[in-house]
Amino acid sequence: MDLRLYDTLTKEKRPFQPLDANNVRMYVCGPTVYDFAHIGNARPVIVFDVLFRLLRHLYGEAHVKYVRNITDVDDKINDRAARDFPGLPLNEAIRKVTEQTGRQFHADVDALGCLRPTVEPRATEHIGEMREIIERLVAGGFAYVAEDHVLFSPQAMNAANSGLPRYGALSNRSLDEMIAGARVDVAPYKKDNTDFVLWKPSKPGEPSWPSPAGIAVQGRPGWHVECSAMAWKHLGEHFDIHGGGIDLVFPHHENEVAQTCCAFHQPRMANTWMHNGFLQVESEKMSKSLGNFVTIHELLADWPGEVLRLNMLKTHYRSPIDWTTKSLEESAKTLDDWYRVAADVAPGQPASSVVEPLLDDLNTPLAIAALHGLRGSDVAALAGSLRLLGFLSESAAQWEGRKRQASGVDAREVERLISERTTARARKDFAESDRIRDLLAAMGVAIKDSKEGTTWEVAR
Ligand code: AMP
Ligand code: ZN
Repeated sequence: MDLRLYDTLTKEKRPFQPLDANNVRMYVCGPTVYDFAHIGNARPVIVFDVLFRLLRHLYGEAHVKYVRNITDVDDKINDRAARDFPGLPLNEAIRKVTEQTGRQFHADVDALGCLRPTVEPRATEHIGEMREIIERLVAGGFAYVAEDHVLFSPQAMNAANSGLPRYGALSNRSLDEMIAGARVDVAPYKKDNTDFVLWKPSKPGEPSWPSPAGIAVQGRPGWHVECSAMAWKHLGEHFDIHGGGIDLVFPHHENEVAQTCCAFHQPRMANTWMHNGFLQVESEKMSKSLGNFVTIHELLADWPGEVLRLNMLKTHYRSPIDWTTKSLEESAKTLDDWYRVAADVAPGQPASSVVEPLLDDLNTPLAIAALHGLRGSDVAALAGSLRLLGFLSESAAQWEGRKRQASGVDAREVERLISERTTARARKDFAESDRIRDLLAAMGVAIKDSKEGTTWEVAR
């Protein structure tokens, strides 16, 4: 069976045909590095990591190039820098914020079992490519200069009508409706209310670079053009897959398509557009004001990263996901069990019962159901399949040890109580033996008696 992926542009699942099977190319919009990433941000990272692993499995590790950018120029970064490092020049403060946040992001997503992308370009290292795209857009009549800004004109794009996509096609909107629906208090330098910023002048102290299109004052790029530039630099004018969260379809991805296709006279930017659904917490939208805003970092203090990963993949990537403690507890139990039976087993080939649902637009819930099926029939295939999905990075002993450590259970005390209980049982003092079992249970320790003796584990 071949890989089929749902494409946001054509709204259908289509067979995936790479432009070049020796160089399968995927771009995913990465984080803006100004603060700890929240668990919603982890969703595209995990989902596209699974796709990256699947593509490597299908085409070979050396033949897949995955680019995920780091947005390190943004007003939110500037605000944080000014707040946290008031004594430093803004540029230095910004570097501190982006470096520190970038490190936190890596630590978080490494713990979630995500491979690093092939390239992680930073926006500030691609200003030259952004300027080049902007120059091309101005020269082509798709963009214009006004009050030291450069603006892109979707109306000019749709008027050109020469082998370009229609502005609005990706997000399924009509430009006429956008024109009619746009706010009235539009910036005075815009010719039309649907025009968007490619470049803007920097305020004093803000990061700034020499401007394109003959603008005399220094400036900085708009957000959308950053991704067009980084994707172009590392993947070319036209590539296979572009991904991100559903909230990015409009305006961000619509504008990326517009910029790239108009700059390079292409009918397409990416052949497949993929978007993950949103994550909500205990059936509510996650927001700071509701107090249910939770960072990956905070969750990692309570749960192993692979538990968060499994919990994410139990829902199909295009469906909304409801993030609940109950579901996390179940995911933890499942992983405890898989670690016990499969972590120390020599892994076999991933089972076709697991790979086939993945080939069908990354149907991870079905793949996980198949994993449960393998548990009783083919443990080697279970181990291989779990590894394909990014699980079992530790040995069974490491997993259990971490659980004990995280629970604060004192292993020596547990062993001592178990041997007391064994002595009590030997003298048929079942009241005492039950008392010790209850004591252990109260400590969060579950015990199991067998012919070989008593084993124990931290009950979650
Ligand atoms: P941002 O830093 O807000 O640009 O988001 C980074 C990535 O996380 C983008 O791909 C967003 O679409 C995605 N994202 C943000 N919030 C959520 C959420 N609650 N659920 C799923 N994805 C999200
Ligand atoms: Zn982007």
